[in-house]
Amino acid sequence: MPAFEFAAPGTLQEALKHFAGQGTVRALAGGTDVIDQLKTARRKADLVVDVKRIPELQRLEMTADGLHIGAARCCTDVHHNPTVRRYFAALAESAGLVGSVQIQNRAAVGGNVCNAAPSADTTPALLIHDARAVVVSQRGRREIPLTDFFSGPGQTVLQKGEILQELILPVPPANSASAYLRFIPRNEMDIAVAGVGSYLEIDPGTNYVRRARIALASVAPTPVRARAAEQVLEGRPLTEDQVTMAAEAAAQAASPITDVRGSAEYRKELVKVLTRRTLAICQERIAGVHRKGPGH
Ligand SMILES: Cc1cc2nc3c(=O)[nH]c(=O)nc-3n(C[C@H](O)[C@H](O)[C@H](O)COP(=O)(O)OP(=O)(O)OC[C@H]3O[C@@H](n4cnc5c(N)ncnc54)[C@H](O)[C@@H]3O)c2cc1C
Repeated sequence: MPAFEFAAPGTLQEALKHFAGQGTVRALAGGTDVIDQLKTARRKADLVVDVKRIPELQRLEMTADGLHIGAARCCTDVHHNPTVRRYFAALAESAGLVGSVQIQNRAAVGGNVCNAAPSADTTPALLIHDARAVVVSQRGRREIPLTDFFSGPGQTVLQKGEILQELILPVPPANSASAYLRFIPRNEMDIAVAGVGSYLEIDPGTNYVRRARIALASVAPTPVRARAAEQVLEGRPLTEDQVTMAAEAAAQAASPITDVRGSAEYRKELVKVLTRRTLAICQERIAGVHRKGPGH
C-alpha cells in the first residue's frame, strides 16, 4: 500500500484542522471501502484521518427534529437500534444487509453514503426518509438534502476540508411505513443487482396515499429517487392498478448498465418486482401486520 500519514483525533475541531491541511486528506470510518481503495490505488491520500473517535460522529438519537445518525456510527448499531427499527424500517433492513456481521460491525452508514457507490444499500432508505446531510469544515456548517449529495459514481458534492458530521431524518408521521429490498444472486456478501426502498404515508380514512417515496440502488450512476412513480401514487387510493403503474414508472426512472451481475433489461424488471414488493410490505406494516425483513 502506498505510504500515508495517519491521525485519529478525539475532537471534531482537531479533525477539521487536519482536513483543512495541505494535500489529499481522506476520512476513514470503518475502512471497509477506503482501505482497499488505497491499497489498489483507486483512491489516494497523503493523510488518512480516522473519524471514529469523534463524539459528534458517533451520535445515534431521536430528538424533536428527527433521528440523528453520526457519520461514523456503524451499521450494526443502526440495524439493532429500537427507534430505527420502529420508525425507519427500511434503514434498519438495509444496514443489516451491508456485507456480513463482521463488515457491519466496522462499516458506518455515513461511510456507505460518502463512498457514493450506486449500489450502496443504505442510501435508498435514507433518500425515502428525506435525509439531510450535515456537512462541517473549518468554514462552518451546511445542510444538504441527500438527494443533492451525489455527483457521480464514487463522487459527492463535499468540498476540500468538508466532512459529513451526521445524517438527520425527520420523524415519520403516523400511518406511514418503509421497506427496503435488494436482489443479489446469493444470500449475502454480494453487491445489489438492484435495490428498491419505498415509503408510504396513507390517509387511514380513505386509503389515499398522502406521500410516497421510492428510491433505487444499482440502476443509475448515482442512487435515484423515482419521482414519476411517487407521483403515480400520491393523492390516489392505493389499489393494485396504481401499484402496477408505479412499478412501471419506477423501472422507467432506472438507467442501468449491463455488466457481469445482470443486463440492463433484467435490472429494470427487478426494479418493477422490488417496487411492487416493497410497496406491499409498507401497506402491511401500516395495517399493523408485522412482517420480518430480509436477513432477520
Ligand atoms: C466484503 C465486503 C462486502 C460489502 N458488502 C456491501 C453490501 O452488501 N452493501 C453495501 O452497500 N456495501 C457493501 N460493502 C461496501 C462497504 O462495506 C460499505 O460501503 C460501508 O458502509 C462503508 O463504510 P465504512 O465506514 O467502512 O467507510 P470507509 O471505508 O471508512 O469510507 C468510505 C469512503 O467514505 C469516506 N468517508 C467516510 N466517512 C466520511 C465522513 N464522515 N466524511 C467524509 N467522507 C467520509 C472515506 O474517505 C471513503 O472515501 C462491502 C464491502 C466489503 C469489503
